[in-house]
Amino acid sequence: YYNKEVLEVTNNDKVIGRVIILKNITEFQQLDDAKTNFIATISHELKTPISSIKMSLKLLEDDRIGAVNPEQRQLLENIDEDARRLLQITGELLDMAQVETGKLQLNFGKTHPGNIVDYAVKALKTTAEQKQVTINVQCDQSLPDVQADLDKTTWVLINLLSNAIKYSHEKSVVDLVVKIYKADEIEFSVQDHGRGIDQRYLSRIFDRYFKVPGATTEQTGTGLGLAIAKDFIEAQAGKIGVESEIGEGSRFYFTLKRFGK
Ligand code: ADP
Repeated sequence: YYNKEVLEVTNNDKVIGRVIILKNITEFQQLDDAKTNFIATISHELKTPISSIKMSLKLLEDDRIGAVNPEQRQLLENIDEDARRLLQITGELLDMAQVETGKLQLNFGKTHPGNIVDYAVKALKTTAEQKQVTINVQCDQSLPDVQADLDKTTWVLINLLSNAIKYSHEKSVVDLVVKIYKADEIEFSVQDHGRGIDQRYLSRIFDRYFKVPGATTEQTGTGLGLAIAKDFIEAQAGKIGVESEIGEGSRFYFTLKRFGK
């Protein structure tokens, strides 16, 4: 494996030569592969016990083992929320490792954009209500079908909406708009009116593990969400991007191919 860098030699703004630097990064690449395989194994191994913790919790919470008092219930709910987070993190790590090792499998099918929108909005109903954020949906029934992996695309939209809500102020509005883009593509767009993202960090927002510096209480994420979203969309030959203005809000968008195009 080589890393290639090209430097231009100029004289009075005219390019008079180029220097090409090739760096042997085989060892680095091997280490990186080992790390990815390690992450895949660990996250896979963790999923089963965490799932069974959740199942046992459910039995306790439903009073199936015996009556649970309010104090105990609160503790069970806390454990349940932590277990949910753990599952989410291990799931994201596994997805990331699958993408990196080329093991990502897509299930393409014909689906209406409205299905993806419905699933995602339903999944975030409670989260939005808790923050009194209104999700305004604009997705016409007359839009054409898309060629997409329904699960993965819904996952992406849920992630964008969840970020939009997370970084919005209370009682604000998130606009989810689906429209035709360049004739044979469909664009999904999630616009929030929250804190926005500093231009300095915009180009790194889709990088693995990247989180905008200046940690705040709600920044408990792994910094993997957008990186995986990018992988999922690009694997479907779509594009993903962001426009943002600090203090004004952000617009994340992605495209998918029209069915049959
Ligand atoms: P995380 O799991 O940390 O949320 P993401 O990959 O989803 O990771 O997001 C990366 C970072 O991008 C976040 O930590 C946050 O700083 C920033 N970010 C993402 N979406 C938004 C948004 N809608 N508004 C402001 N900042 C955002």
